Amino acid sequence: MQLNPNCIRLEQNYLFSEIALRVRSFQAGHPEKEILSLGINDVTRPLAPAVCEAMAAASREMQHAETFHGYGAVEGEPFLREAVSGYYRQHGVRVDPDDVFIGDGAKSDLSNLCDLFLPECTVLLPDPVYPVFYDTSVMAGRRILFSRGSRENGFLPMPDDSIDADLVYLCSPNNPTGAVYSRAQLRRWVEYAHAKGACIIYDAAYEAYIRSAALPRSIYEIAGAETCAIEVSSFSKMAGFTGVRCSWVIVPGALTQGGQSLQRLWRRRQSTKYNGTSYIVQRGAAAVFTAAGQRQVRGDVSCYMENAGLIRSALRKSGVFSTGGEHAPYVWMECPNGMRSWDCFDSLLSRYGIVSAPGAGFGAGGEGWIRFSSFGSRETTKKAAEKLANIEWDAFSVFAGGRY
Ligand code: PLP
Repeated sequence: MQLNPNCIRLEQNYLFSEIALRVRSFQAGHPEKEILSLGINDVTRPLAPAVCEAMAAASREMQHAETFHGYGAVEGEPFLREAVSGYYRQHGVRVDPDDVFIGDGAKSDLSNLCDLFLPECTVLLPDPVYPVFYDTSVMAGRRILFSRGSRENGFLPMPDDSIDADLVYLCSPNNPTGAVYSRAQLRRWVEYAHAKGACIIYDAAYEAYIRSAALPRSIYEIAGAETCAIEVSSFSKMAGFTGVRCSWVIVPGALTQGGQSLQRLWRRRQSTKYNGTSYIVQRGAAAVFTAAGQRQVRGDVSCYMENAGLIRSALRKSGVFSTGGEHAPYVWMECPNGMRSWDCFDSLLSRYGIVSAPGAGFGAGGEGWIRFSSFGSRETTKKAAEKLANIEWDAFSVFAGGRY
């Protein structure tokens, strides 16, 4: 057999597996210590009642021959594609339902989109960034370049015209930094993509967390994006679908390269490798866009954003530098005293039982930073925030007693 060398090139451990491993090892040695997790990507609030009712009704439909659903349309059910289009309309963005493709999660969509582009093409990734952009690019065998986020540029790297990229990934609101591009900044990226003939893959998985109309929720708010950008979004963080699985990809009909329609290619790809998202799940997803569904899921998002507020205030009180958490469920903290991310992670865990996500796991640009997630319960977040607020960072250093 011959193995794919690109898979072998991947790092041994996926970030969150390594975090889980370290937490387990700490717990084994200190079963009496309370663990306060601000590390996870996963949501903790239950599904909205409107979603559950819709899925229960859909499952009852499946019980009767007259209303049973077998294979559905590979692009997704028309009712959900219309509902997604309507959601964009509410925010003043025109997206044709025909341009909407329903998937089973943004992670799979992001990775499946790799099929549309030449494996060895050049990809420009923000650093730090959601690890899936990097790992899927490594697996595809791409040439990878980075645009570096830093405290100086507010973790919003801008295009460098001397770099020629075929594919550009952008994530706004950003995981892990919580930074959000302005319209003017996105305009620059759209101009760059046009100048280079590049395609932007825009990850809007956290758009529901944007609290200000002054910030763009979609790349299609920028004129010209429909001819250079694909947008990926998900019900996971806007409506707690991490365990249900549903997402959407916008591939505009106007997006072409060398006379080829990317929408046609994506449909062709999907019809070969995908058999559609579960009907029951799509009914649940459509309920997210009803008046009751929106009220309920927005309540959950507000609750997470209050958690982010608690974390931000605690860090501000303690005097350490942090950013994010205003239009995103992630707060991004600079490790004190020049500490490295994993050392800071280990010290927070050993001393306070607080689990974070080390910035270094999101790329070299994340070294020296830590991410706190606001997806924990209110009780956990409050307890952790109380501890964080009282840390004396000047005296905070690598835990003296070894790792744990
Ligand atoms: N994109 C970003 C930026 C994310 O942070 C995540 C999940 O954490 C995803 C995509 C994947 O979401 P999904 O649950 O839809 O696969």
